Amino acid sequence: MSDDATPKTTRPLGGISLNFISEGDGSAPLSQSVASGTGKPVEARVVIVGSGPAGLTAAIYAARANLEPIVIGGVAAGGQLMITSEVENYPGFPDGVQGPELMALFRKQAERFGARILDADVERVDLGGRPFRLWAAGVEYRSEAVIVATGAEAIWLGIESETRLRGRGVSACATCDGFFFRDKEVGIVGGGDSALEEALFLTRFASKVHLIHRRDAFRGSKIMATRVAANPRIQLHLNRTVEEVIGSEHVEALRLGKTDGAGEELLAVDGFFVAIGHRPNVAAFRDWLELDKKGYLKTEGATTASNIDGVFVAGDVDDHRYRQAVTAAGEGCRAAIDVERWLEAQEAHVAGRPAANAVSAR
Ligand code: NAP
Repeated sequence: MSDDATPKTTRPLGGISLNFISEGDGSAPLSQSVASGTGKPVEARVVIVGSGPAGLTAAIYAARANLEPIVIGGVAAGGQLMITSEVENYPGFPDGVQGPELMALFRKQAERFGARILDADVERVDLGGRPFRLWAAGVEYRSEAVIVATGAEAIWLGIESETRLRGRGVSACATCDGFFFRDKEVGIVGGGDSALEEALFLTRFASKVHLIHRRDAFRGSKIMATRVAANPRIQLHLNRTVEEVIGSEHVEALRLGKTDGAGEELLAVDGFFVAIGHRPNVAAFRDWLELDKKGYLKTEGATTASNIDGVFVAGDVDDHRYRQAVTAAGEGCRAAIDVERWLEAQEAHVAGRPAANAVSAR
C-alpha cells in the first residue's frame, strides 16, 4: 500500500493535521534551529526514523525509558495505516478502528511521554561513526542510537494508464478501497499471498473478482490458492498480463496479454487492484545497512540489531513475511528495549562496569 494508492479526497484523515512539528512535552520545537538560523545540530540519545506502528511504538517505549526520542516521521506521516480504512484485527479495538484514527492514538501516546515528532523525510544519513548523523528538512540530527522503521510501500506495474487512473478505480490497497466496488466487477493482478488474500477480501463487496496472474500457478500458499479456486465469485485468468488499464475518467476495462500464446483479451471491470508485492523504504540506508536478498533490512539473530552497532531496525522495512500493524508495533517495542540496553551497555563500558543485557550485532 502506498500513500498515493487513492486520492486523499476519497479517504479523509479524520480531521487530523499531521503537517506540523510536535512539541512533545513542551520543550523547544525541532524546527527551532532552522527558524533561528543557528544551524546547530540537534542532539539526541535516540532518533527513530518512521512514524508507522513500529516507529511510534518504539517512541512510546523509548520515551518511557527517559531516552527523549526524536521521531523523524516522514512527510507522509503515519505509514500505511493512514491509507487504510477499517482495521478490525488490531487487538484492543473489538469494534474496529479507522487506520488514521489508530495512528493518531499512537502519536498522542508517544507525545504524552515526551517524544518529539518531526513530519519530514530523512534526506541522508552518515552511520559511519558515532554519534550517527541524519539530515531532515535542512537540520542535522546527531544521535547515539538510531531505530530505522521506515516501512514498505506497494509496487506498481509501471504502466502509464495505471498511474493515470490511480484513484479513479486503480488502487494498491484492497482493504482500503474494496468497499467502493460493491456489486461491481473488479480485476486484481498478482500471484502471491497478498493477491490471493485481497481477491478473497474483495468478494465481500464485488459481484465478480477477476484474478490475473502471469503464470499457470500461484506463488502464494496452497491453502489460500485452494480457497480462491473454490470461491464462485473469483474467476482466474492465468498466464495473463495486464498491458493496459482502459478508461478516460475511470476504469472501464483491462487489456490482457497472454504468456502462453499470441493475442490479447479485453476484460470489462470497474476497478483494478495491484497486489504484486511491496518494496521496503531503504533508500537513505542502503549504503550503510545490510539488505537481505529481497532488499529488506537485515537484523541479527533474535534481536533488532543491524550490522552497525547502535543502529536498530523495526517493522515492515525488515519484515516481508508478516507485515501487520501489530507485528510492526511489537518489533518497535523490541527495538526500543534493545536501544535502552545497548545505551546502558555503552555507559557501563565507559564507566568500566560489566554490561548487563547488552545488545549488539557484533
Ligand atoms: P510476493 O510473494 O512477492 O508475490 C508477488 C506476486 O506478484 C508474484 O506472484 C509475482 O509473480 C507477481 N508480480 C510481480 N511483479 C509483477 C509484474 N510486474 N507483473 C505481474 N505480476 C507481477 O508478494 P506478496 O504477495 O505481497 O507477499 C509478500 C510476502 O508477504 C510473502 O512472503 C507472503 O507470503 C507474505 N504474505 C502473507 C500473507 C498471509 O499469510 N496472510 C498475506 C500477504 C502476504 P511471479 O510469481 O511470476 O513472480
